[in-house]
Amino acid sequence: MLPPLIRGEHRSCFGVTEPDAGLDTTHISTFARRREDGGYVVNGRKVWTSTAQRADHILLVTRTTPIEDCERPTDGMSVFYTDFDRSKIDVHEIANMGRKAVDSNAIFIDGLEVPEEDRIGAEGEGFKVLLHGLNAERIIVAAAAVGFGMYVLEKAAAYARERVVFGRPIGQNQAIQHPLASVWMRLQAAELMTYKAATLYDQGKPCGLEANTARNLAGSAAYEAAFRAVRTHGGFGFAQEYHVERYFRESVLNFIAPVSEELILSYVAEKALGMPKSY
Ligand SMILES: Cc1cc2nc3c(=O)[nH]c(=O)nc-3n(C[C@H](O)[C@H](O)[C@H](O)COP(=O)(O)OP(=O)(O)OC[C@H]3O[C@@H](n4cnc5c(N)ncnc54)[C@H](O)[C@@H]3O)c2cc1C
Repeated sequence: MLPPLIRGEHRSCFGVTEPDAGLDTTHISTFARRREDGGYVVNGRKVWTSTAQRADHILLVTRTTPIEDCERPTDGMSVFYTDFDRSKIDVHEIANMGRKAVDSNAIFIDGLEVPEEDRIGAEGEGFKVLLHGLNAERIIVAAAAVGFGMYVLEKAAAYARERVVFGRPIGQNQAIQHPLASVWMRLQAAELMTYKAATLYDQGKPCGLEANTARNLAGSAAYEAAFRAVRTHGGFGFAQEYHVERYFRESVLNFIAPVSEELILSYVAEKALGMPKSY
């Protein structure tokens, strides 16, 4: 499955989120029914499926046993990597506030046939399969947020060095300097946490806390960098010409996807501080 993806011959999308389940992934309703003559037939819908306009494959999370028949909610789920058969999947683009380079979609799956060999891992063990990939995703998006934050911060600093008001560069005022310096420190810390999580992941060690912490530190610092870049640019921060308004819109996603800040904080409260699970 992986070599054609890496060679760029396949384009894949990832279908987890559903309109009626939200972050509560165990409550998805997309269902893969086993056929008597082998393979599965899938029905259901997904939302926010990135790149579904152009994908030819999908990594699809489904239930294979209804949740009511499972001992634990995490049982009875299965993951497939299969052809994105457009005769069985309808795709509708969602208009949204950013990421114009990447389409976001609602998809409707009606009678998608999936061969047995397209299943990843054992039937019913899909939640474990899913979790295995999620920490890596958190680390990647954390690294992207650090890079984004440093880029936007440099734009703000460059403007602060050059823009002269009251006879001196605005960057000479501590009210401009301090927030930018503070974001720089936050981004440095986020970067170190990202490397820590990545090192643990590479060593095959548990890294859920570190990956989520990195994602949150990096994402919130990137948001602050973009917000400060708009503020530093004053009125021009509001103009499209300087692009910082666009970066600011893009940065909001850091709090939402692939997991929300609220869920990360709840996870850390539970796993690092031993508080009762709240989700
Ligand atoms: C641009 C974009 C691209 C995306 N790409 C993909 C993709 O390719 N594939 C895919 O499967 N998904 C994708 N997603 C979906 C994304 O992962 C979800 O939007 C995200 O996980 C949040 O789920 P939700 O939108 O259903 O929010 P909900 O679950 O409805 O939550 C709404 C709000 O309530 C809060 N909340 C819910 N429960 C709790 C709780 N117990 N405690 C505290 N707060 C709570 C949440 O933190 C959030 O703030 C994408 C989303 C966006 C916006």
